[in-house]
Formats: sequence, C-alpha cells, structure tokens
Amino acid sequence: MLRGAMSEEHERWMRQAIAEGELARGGTGDNPWVGCVIVDAQGELLGKGHTQGPGEDHAEIAAAAHAKARGKSVVGATLYSTLEPCSFHGRTPACARSIAERGLARVVIGMHDPHPRVSGEGCRILRDAGVEVVEGICEALVRRQLGSWVLEHHPHDVVRRAARSPEPETVEKLADMYGVDVKTMRTALLRAAAKGA
Ligand SMILES: [Zn+2]
Repeated sequence: MLRGAMSEEHERWMRQAIAEGELARGGTGDNPWVGCVIVDAQGELLGKGHTQGPGEDHAEIAAAAHAKARGKSVVGATLYSTLEPCSFHGRTPACARSIAERGLARVVIGMHDPHPRVSGEGCRILRDAGVEVVEGICEALVRRQLGSWVLEHHPHDVVRRAARSPEPETVEKLADMYGVDVKTMRTALLRAAAKGA
C-alpha cells in the first residue's frame, strides 16, 4: 500500500480509538481515558475498548478481551491506542508485554505516555518483542483529548514545552494544544512553577 494511503488508514482507525477513549472520560480515576481498537490485516474491526476504573483493565486489554468475546483471534492484528501502552507492572500487568504475548503484529499510537517511567519504554518493549510500532498518528488530537489529565498528573510535560517556546502567546497556544481554557493553563503553569516541576 502507498505510504499516504497507509497513514490515512491509520488516522481513520485512530479517530475510532479516540472516540472509544471519550467513553471513558470521568470514569478512570487517576488513569488517562485511553481508547483502543484492534483491526485485522483485511481491515476488519476485531475488538474495541477503553480504560476501565482504577485497578481494572486498561484500554488495550479491554479491546483484546472484546475481540476474544467475539471469537476473534488478534494474532497478527494491528492495535490502535491513543496512548503508548504502559511498560511497568502497577495495579495491572504492563500492557506492552501483554500485547506482545498476545501475538499482535503492530501497534499504532497517538501520543507517548508523559509518565517519566513509561515515555518511550512501552514502545521499546514492543519493538524488542518484534512488534512493529508506528508513533504520532493524530497526536495533536490525542493531546487535546488527554490534555487535562496531562496537566493534572504530568505538568512537567507542559512546562518543558512552555520553556521551549517563550513567545507571548505561549499560554494561549499551550491551552489550545492541551484542550483546556487559558485560565486553567495559566493556573497549572503557576502551580507547577511553585512546585519546581
Ligand atoms: Zn496499560
């Protein structure tokens, strides 16, 4: 397939993953409201899911469980996740390992996890296991969708970006990038600065 057609295909499925993630907003506790879809090589949707409550399944696992419940094998399939799969064993096993164990061939992500212990690490685990990883599909949309979560839990991500672009419209631009209003962004930056984030 042509490169352009492939990325259009990726964007189409990522938008479905984003819509799936929206269903989780407000119901995930401290976790981000991530959405996933799993698609086979013929372009058939096998399963979809979003992050459940605290300590429950992350989106990737929910989507795999959905495919299984429908009697669909995910071996060789492509998983679209709005956020990079997690890389460490927290309240639930690491999704990156679980995805590799299930035999998925490819993972397409929107945005890196801003968590300092995860960022890039989930992708590395997947690649080491032989899974193809495509990054940055619909990244701007995903950042806007998860912006208020990033601001609350990983303000360093925003502060780092602010430090890189010191133009006067920075706060407005950042607010737009993270999908929050200007007042919320200003407050978050001030709070982060006071904490020395
Ligand atoms: Zn996870």
